[in-house]
Amino acid sequence: MSGQRSTRRAWGMSLAADAPAAMESDRYPYPTRPAVTAVMKGNRKTDTRPEVALRSALHRSGARFRKNHNVKVDEGRAIRVDIVFPRAKLAVLVDGCFWHRCPEHGVDPRSNTAYWSPKLMRNVERDRVTDLRLRVGGWTVLRVWEHEVTPSKMARTVEAVQGSLARRGPGFLNRESRSMTAGQV
Ligand SMILES: [Zn+2]
Repeated sequence: MSGQRSTRRAWGMSLAADAPAAMESDRYPYPTRPAVTAVMKGNRKTDTRPEVALRSALHRSGARFRKNHNVKVDEGRAIRVDIVFPRAKLAVLVDGCFWHRCPEHGVDPRSNTAYWSPKLMRNVERDRVTDLRLRVGGWTVLRVWEHEVTPSKMARTVEAVQGSLARRGPGFLNRESRSMTAGQV
């Protein structure tokens, strides 16, 4: 019981009021494996391969940002964001296709579906709560799927991030990007 309570507390806010049925975890055993526990607590793994790939590509494009930065948006727990542009208040989060149920690759696992489906649905639910908290706090949220940072799609994804930065105002483009833009004009 204390495990569940601490999980709720770890989320930083009470989700009980509008929690869908899938979030009722009472029927499921509290996980003991550290990885699963981390997922339930909402501790996103940091420095995953897709994250590192996107950060490298962004850095090469001239973008300057903070990584794995804690963003405080309300009285709740700070939100750990993969890639943060603090002045532009742009939060970029890289979501694993399996863990965050990408519509293309986020298929339910074949085995132990009864156990995993609610966990994954809870991840997605928590993602939406995170988005809402960030937006209410004045942040722009850009979620990038793992499959969007593959070599063939990276350029488009970097463009999307730069586009979001530009929409926040020309002053938010970093010095390198500005000089690149000026050079093209
Ligand atoms: Zn995917």
